[in-house]
Amino acid sequence: MHILSKSTYIKGLQCEKALYMHKKHPYLRDKLSIEQRAKFQRGTDVGVLAHEVFPGGIDMSPSSPSQFPKKAQETWDNLSNPEVNVMYEAVFQYNDTLIMLDILVRDGDRWLAVEVKSSLRLSDTYYNDAALQYYVLKGCGVPLSDFRLMYLNGDYVKNGPIDVRQLFKMESVMEYVVEREDFVAKNVERLKAVVALPHAPMVDIGTQCNDPYPCDFQGHCWKYVPKDSFLFTTAMDDDVLFQSYLNGVNTNAKMMQQLDPDSEEAHQIDALETGSYYIDYKTLYSLAPQPKPKSVAFLNLLLNRPAVPEIDGMRPYEEMILAFAIQGKYENAAAIDPMLPTNHRRDDMAAVTSQRWDDMAADGCFVWDCFDDHNRWRESIDLLIEKLSHYDLIVCFTPQNLTTTLLRHEIIQNQSVGYKIFNLFDILQQTRFYHPAIKRGLTLQHLETALFGEAKLFEHSRILLEATGNDLISYQQAREDLITENEMVAKTYQHLFK
Ligand code: SF4
Repeated sequence: MHILSKSTYIKGLQCEKALYMHKKHPYLRDKLSIEQRAKFQRGTDVGVLAHEVFPGGIDMSPSSPSQFPKKAQETWDNLSNPEVNVMYEAVFQYNDTLIMLDILVRDGDRWLAVEVKSSLRLSDTYYNDAALQYYVLKGCGVPLSDFRLMYLNGDYVKNGPIDVRQLFKMESVMEYVVEREDFVAKNVERLKAVVALPHAPMVDIGTQCNDPYPCDFQGHCWKYVPKDSFLFTTAMDDDVLFQSYLNGVNTNAKMMQQLDPDSEEAHQIDALETGSYYIDYKTLYSLAPQPKPKSVAFLNLLLNRPAVPEIDGMRPYEEMILAFAIQGKYENAAAIDPMLPTNHRRDDMAAVTSQRWDDMAADGCFVWDCFDDHNRWRESIDLLIEKLSHYDLIVCFTPQNLTTTLLRHEIIQNQSVGYKIFNLFDILQQTRFYHPAIKRGLTLQHLETALFGEAKLFEHSRILLEATGNDLISYQQAREDLITENEMVAKTYQHLFK
């Protein structure tokens, strides 16, 4: 059996303890988040599509880990079989290290190795991953003509059926992987020795806990860090925070001695210790909408960025509006909008099925989606313009640069909408809003915890639909979530600007 694989090697490069825990105490791992699961699924889908660039190959994927030795032997046999020119997920093992190479293509009397990535650009991790694979392939005696990383081409525009040769681009990393051979060899030995240790190596928490990936043993390693520790602040870089921590500044009191009491860092520590949040009210009030708007619409958008474009005219990861909810009232609503039916209430959502949209005049809520047919997403643009044009102010909460999004879809050229956007996400950033929950990201759910001391929002449908655009959740649930989130946007706005 093997000791290391691509993923465990990368984990070990990040932190020896993470590798050890993964191998010896996997039950202590944090639960996989829904975002991570969606990301894995996306990677698998792109990998399968990439096979079409080199069609007609044999899939060597084992159905279970117990099949690795058998598949490694079959891979080996295929190398000398002139009838096999392409293999997918070919299995190789060398020096207790196992890899499954995405694509291996016969190239004369040598082989072309291709590793597929479902992203638009290459990262250090991908290069390290390729270097490990090269090390194993070379160790197994596979003569290589080249080693390439294949990833998504951001310039590709879909026009008819997906053209896989245009969708992907490739970069040779042969020179890099050859240069890194010694580095990999040393690290393989080091990490094998770590796995053989009788106890987990002593590794203190540090920047490696989130770099390059959030480690899934944080629940275990961070459990003794007090909940109000300065390590949960965001005003300082993690590098600086941990530098101080490792130099003995390991309590809030010690950290406070080094800080200006009026600094943002000090305010954050105070917020941690008092269980409240920090906000720069002076900035907040200066950003308040002036004059007070007569009509306010709350807008919640659900965007989707498919790795592989679904619709003609779109590029990989280009966003489309999958759904939106608008909540608000304006004078003479019924006169302006004859579409509004009467007396649909929030409770009526149970009756909403796959209609194009549903208006709920009672609370001024309007929902549109194209869950059932993404080709219809461009309808959202005209509808948004029409619906939003009735309001003086459009309040939303989104990490996306909504103005850019709208610009891209040319909404902003319609001067009735673009300039009215009031993005609470940007406002809170400018006011240096802080609460420990937002260390993990300024999301609506974390905001709810920060402002109202509760977290009822469960942004599953947003995450699943935005990450994969698939139907892992019911559309009915997604529509309801859209409205619930929008209510939270409204509650936040009223809380901050009452
Ligand atoms: S949480 Fe940090 S210290 Fe613990 S295993 Fe992960 S990276 Fe290592």
